[in-house]
Amino acid sequence: MGNAENKSNGNLGSDMAAGQSERDLDDVKNHAAFQKALKNDENPLKVAGVKRWEDEAGVNRIVNRRVFELEPLPTPADVLSNMPLSAEATDLVVRSRNEIRDCLYGKDDRLLVIAGPCSIHDPQAALDYAHRLAKMKDELGDRLLIVMRVYFEKPRTTVGWKGLINDPDLDGSHNIKKGLLLARKILLGVLDEGVAAATEFLEPTSPQYISDVVSWGVIGARNTESQIHRQLSSGLSMPIGFKNATDGSVKAAIDGCYTATQQHTFFGIDHLGRASAVETLGNPDCHVVLRGSSHGPNYDTESVQEAMQSIRGEMPEGAAACHGLIIDCSHGNSGKDEIRQAEVARELAGRIATGEPDITGLMMESNILGGNQPAAPLSQLEYGKSITDKCIAWPETERLLRELANAVDVRRGA
Ligand code: PEP
Ligand code: MN
Repeated sequence: MGNAENKSNGNLGSDMAAGQSERDLDDVKNHAAFQKALKNDENPLKVAGVKRWEDEAGVNRIVNRRVFELEPLPTPADVLSNMPLSAEATDLVVRSRNEIRDCLYGKDDRLLVIAGPCSIHDPQAALDYAHRLAKMKDELGDRLLIVMRVYFEKPRTTVGWKGLINDPDLDGSHNIKKGLLLARKILLGVLDEGVAAATEFLEPTSPQYISDVVSWGVIGARNTESQIHRQLSSGLSMPIGFKNATDGSVKAAIDGCYTATQQHTFFGIDHLGRASAVETLGNPDCHVVLRGSSHGPNYDTESVQEAMQSIRGEMPEGAAACHGLIIDCSHGNSGKDEIRQAEVARELAGRIATGEPDITGLMMESNILGGNQPAAPLSQLEYGKSITDKCIAWPETERLLRELANAVDVRRGA
């Protein structure tokens, strides 16, 4: 289906796949007959009268009846070699993954804190945030293992902006190629600030382009039961958290952890973007993330104890998940309200100070400004404010991080 240099189209003819320019394809898309058909809710691919690759290849036209376009992306090998990790950044990724593992297995008594915006939409604000977090890391790094949320792929309950990789221009133009390269650039920039990155993995092939730059990954509440995401996690190089499901099921997350520790063979792409059978070794560093649910929070002591009992009942002794879990202060644990979110983090600091076991770390959705705003193109947005879930403002984030670090001091008996 075309090659990396040419923008090909599943329906618009092999002559286009072989060399017509992006402009030509846009002309086809903007063709009056196409537009008219779209407006009349008809299939534009039937009325435009352009050649299709299926005809050329002798393939029945019953395929691709609803695929408007297939635009090849650069290969993972190209992207990784053109935008490489520096030696310092490589060292930071390796070191931070090991430190996170040590926290997960209880060999490091620092508290793992994953803090940052619900989603990244502005490269400048992302690096501004990373710079601020780097200072906190320097100040509190003996007690907190701070990792930045750098989330580019947003799973939606129905529809909406799907994140910077899917739609970097925030205008529905869905320039995935631009988004992918921009996401990698931002991740490299965050590492250059000296901060390790955490992200949610959503699309099954996007990790090939960015996972070398990520130190902690998560499978979100909507995907924790998905075989595709569990298989993917079994082959990822960093620790992976599984969120409880949106309905509150912790069992779904535990099953996710268990499944991801096993070996799998599944469909994926290789470094040249070729469809491949991927064989994985299994990921031992999976753990549960409690994020509350549509029925209410689950960060209270009893919920944590109940979750740990189920985890220890299902996971093999010694697994990372058996040591403890991460609590997400946002989402179902705060009704996505940033004031409530800070209260949850404060309550957890109090419990950590008294030595409550099983809490390996916590997650906060935090940004430069508090709250959120509707998604729109960048020029129409307030700088440093979330366009997805409400976030805790930076000054409050600083206070909370210091309180959490003090809690670790108290727990140590300092
Ligand atoms: C998020 O982290 O922004 C998110 C969407 O989380 P969850 O999967 O818990 O809803
Ligand atoms: Mn969120």
